[in-house]
Amino acid sequence: MGFLSGKRILITGVASKRSIAWGIAKAMHQQGAELAFSYQKKKLQSRIENFAKELKSNIVLLCDVSSDKNIKFMFNELKNFWKNFDGFVHAVAFAPIDQLDGDYLTQVSREGFITAHEISSYSFAAMAKESCNMLNEQSSLLTLSYLGAEKVILNYNVMGLAKASLEANVRYMANSLGKNNIRVNGISAGPIRTLAASGIKNFKKMLSHFQSVTPLKRNVTIEDIGNVAAFLCSNLANGITGEIIHVDNGYNIVSINQLNY
Ligand code: NAD
Repeated sequence: MGFLSGKRILITGVASKRSIAWGIAKAMHQQGAELAFSYQKKKLQSRIENFAKELKSNIVLLCDVSSDKNIKFMFNELKNFWKNFDGFVHAVAFAPIDQLDGDYLTQVSREGFITAHEISSYSFAAMAKESCNMLNEQSSLLTLSYLGAEKVILNYNVMGLAKASLEANVRYMANSLGKNNIRVNGISAGPIRTLAASGIKNFKKMLSHFQSVTPLKRNVTIEDIGNVAAFLCSNLANGITGEIIHVDNGYNIVSINQLNY
């Protein structure tokens, strides 16, 4: 019996086996959670159904979070399987590709700004609004952020602003839902090569920089993120809400830790 036995958790954002959401799903399954999955596009359906089967789930639902109608429809569908559940993982982000390459001020546009914030931040609150009447006491909601919310990161640009908004969203949502004994947290993950990350210019170079500077001298894995996510969604973390936990091998604590000249 794992520490998530008896918990039912919806996982968004699995697109491939490199996805952070897949690492989270695996860890939660290992700890005994029952899982449901949502995916963005029809063309992902059979892939996600196969992934879900590997983790003993047959609940696989379509949901593009850019529309409230889709979100409502997805939770209505979920009700056919689960009347109540114990939380969800929001592992969804998007900004148009032109926003993630070059100088921030040159590249940022009204449209890019709105899209990045809508998909990467608002959708977390939108999902909570639509599902809170299905959430059991001691539920836990979790999202994924990045250091670009706090510090300037080359090419991350408007996505950094969207992640800053997402982190504030975590705090406001935690305050709104606390009275229902529902917790809301975020993980600020170190860089990992996923489909979303490949849209960021020079991401490979960022990974080797990260590895050389980070105190633990290695990159983080989806398993590292998954284990912390499983803990945060379990009753072991009952006293933690409104937090952003860095799972980045310590990168965020460093200013200058080596001089290579
Ligand atoms: P990924 O490409 O595997 O996952 C991103 C997911 O977002 C995909 O499943 C995609 O389908 C989904 N998505 C995008 N737009 C959507 C929409 N409109 N509706 C529904 N789903 C949509 O990449 P990932 O790196 O695993 O990203 C997961 C989360 O982790 C994101 O929030 C990302 O910003 C965050 N994160 C990633 C890194 C990294 O280096 N990879 C670091 C820190 C945080």
